[in-house]
Amino acid sequence: MALTPLDRTRLASNLARVRERIAAACSGCGRAPESVLLVAVTKYAHAPYARALLDLGQLDLGENRVQHLLELDTGLVESPRPRWHMIGHLQKNKVKAVGPRLFALHTLDSESLATRLAGTREGLAPLQVYVQLKLATGALERAGVAEEGLDSLWAQASTLTGLKTLGLMGLPPRGTPEEARPHFRRLRAQAARLEAGGLSMGMTSDLEVAIEEGATVVRVGQALLEGLSDDARLP
Ligand SMILES: *Cc1c(COP(=O)(O)O)cnc(C)c1O
Repeated sequence: MALTPLDRTRLASNLARVRERIAAACSGCGRAPESVLLVAVTKYAHAPYARALLDLGQLDLGENRVQHLLELDTGLVESPRPRWHMIGHLQKNKVKAVGPRLFALHTLDSESLATRLAGTREGLAPLQVYVQLKLATGALERAGVAEEGLDSLWAQASTLTGLKTLGLMGLPPRGTPEEARPHFRRLRAQAARLEAGGLSMGMTSDLEVAIEEGATVVRVGQALLEGLSDDARLP
């Protein structure tokens, strides 16, 4: 099964449009467009969609479920291969299966997870990690480490040779882009305090604000799927 030619064309133009949004946001605040990495989120889609993204040169793919990541990865044997970014909560019992396949984890939230993950990287490049900071107490946003636990988790993870601590990630509560801004600022302030350069923040709805506030990685799903047929999507 492949993407229809029409879906392929739409995906290519959606991807170009997202890259334009990133470039415009960067130029609006005096940043270089290469300073922001785009992670294309594949969680809504089938393997042919991920294949098409890779063939368009979009190698950084993001998933929030281990099972779906493993299924997609198994189907993407031809080159170019993806660089997988795990962007959802990672359960400790899944670490062994998925750890060696990851390029980055955006949701590090405990010291025991850090230790286990580092143990899966023997003979591999260190896994890039972002510590997820809990930004609110709502049901969707409760993931992540509380501010009180941030420093000790950061310090511990930074000592592990299997990990490369790049920075922080956060999910603001659902709201408008302007409502997300103070949360992005808080993430940036905490990262600056840790002298960490990486900031994984911003999605389809708020990537411009996130870039203005210093995002170095944006994770985009919906904007890439716009106008594609149901065949490209998971039910
Ligand atoms: C789904 C998801 C995204 C992408 O969100 P869109 O609104 O589809 O762009 C980003 N980050 C995380 C953690 C997600 O689960």
